[in-house]
Amino acid sequence: MNPFLTRRASRAIHVGSIAVGGDAPVSVQSMTCTPTADVGATAAQINALAEAGCDIVRVAVPDIEAAKAIAAIKKQVTLPLIADIHFDYRLAIAAVKAGADGLRINPGNIGGDKKVRQVAACANDHAVPIRIGVNAGSLEKDLVRCHGATAEAMVESALRQIQRLESLGFDRIKVSLKASDVGRTVAAYRLLAERSDVPLHLGVTEAGGLFGGIVKSALGIGMLLAEGIGDTIRVSLTRDPVEEVRVGHEILKALGIRRRGPEFISCPTCGRCQIAVQQIAAQVEEALWKRPLPITVAVMGCAVNGPGEAKEADVGIAGGQGKGILFKKGRVVKTVEEKDLVRELLAAVEELAAEKQAPGTPERIRKIATRSTRGTRKNVASTHRQRRGKEIRSNNGSSG
Ligand code: SF4
Repeated sequence: MNPFLTRRASRAIHVGSIAVGGDAPVSVQSMTCTPTADVGATAAQINALAEAGCDIVRVAVPDIEAAKAIAAIKKQVTLPLIADIHFDYRLAIAAVKAGADGLRINPGNIGGDKKVRQVAACANDHAVPIRIGVNAGSLEKDLVRCHGATAEAMVESALRQIQRLESLGFDRIKVSLKASDVGRTVAAYRLLAERSDVPLHLGVTEAGGLFGGIVKSALGIGMLLAEGIGDTIRVSLTRDPVEEVRVGHEILKALGIRRRGPEFISCPTCGRCQIAVQQIAAQVEEALWKRPLPITVAVMGCAVNGPGEAKEADVGIAGGQGKGILFKKGRVVKTVEEKDLVRELLAAVEELAAEKQAPGTPERIRKIATRSTRGTRKNVASTHRQRRGKEIRSNNGSSG
């Protein structure tokens, strides 16, 4: 049993068609970096994110043009949209009226009770959730005076806002507690997870460029997910947001929490290597990573250890002198010239996909891959319950 499948009990909400919390699979989010008022560019980026496996997209709403653009964007995309609002509660109301499927507001800057009441009433009328997005860099002044910009202050801020919304009869709430360092982020989520059942949106904010950002996100998000904390995730990278989605799915895949797309195995190479493993592996991964195929693909440098080391792979290649062998489930199928290895491997993947999902249409593959992720919250390890000493959900199922 995978111990990482034990999930903290959280209340279920919906962002458009996507369930968050409860028994739902951990969803992957990203945020567009186009001007939201540029409908064509924003819709194109959202659709690229959808192709990469994004479940929910957030768009910045800095002005009324951006809020109104949501209506036109929604006509060109299928993913649920969350409007990201700072400072002006009227933009939140305009975004919901334009069709936003959720709101993200910052409690430190959205305004007083009267304004929050109007936003909550509008969100209630349209049945959309609100994410309370606490950020260590913009906490309420009184909390910073009392606690400093600490995990405790972040949690106090979140609890204050949860109570504020709940006192208005609004409970479609999720919360994020983001800091730019892993330690504070993890500490804050752990504290809030003990004190509330709201679904948690995980992320390490302003995590940085590709390498630093991936490491910080994998550590911060990964540590929390491994403890059963987290209902939806967003990896923050100073890159194309499509890369954020890719990394998000890799984190879930590495923990065995949710699988989308092939799993890649490739050897680090050594003195026995007789083919261009780095280039071949990169080409294979680039060709396949967006495909929702539930298979494992291996690229190994030599035939001495390759098939054996990768025997769990569904399909793979292992290098020889100017050639390579194609293998399935650790068994050799045929020998192939090095120049043809990528093509032959990809053809074998397609064959396997067709065998697994006959008749093998992309839509059918998508449905099967999606189905394989359901129930990711349905295994519960009693050891975790003992370790965490708190209420957890207990179901049956597998990660697929
Ligand atoms: Fe070296 Fe072969 Fe192992 Fe690759 S598969 S690391 S080339 S022994």
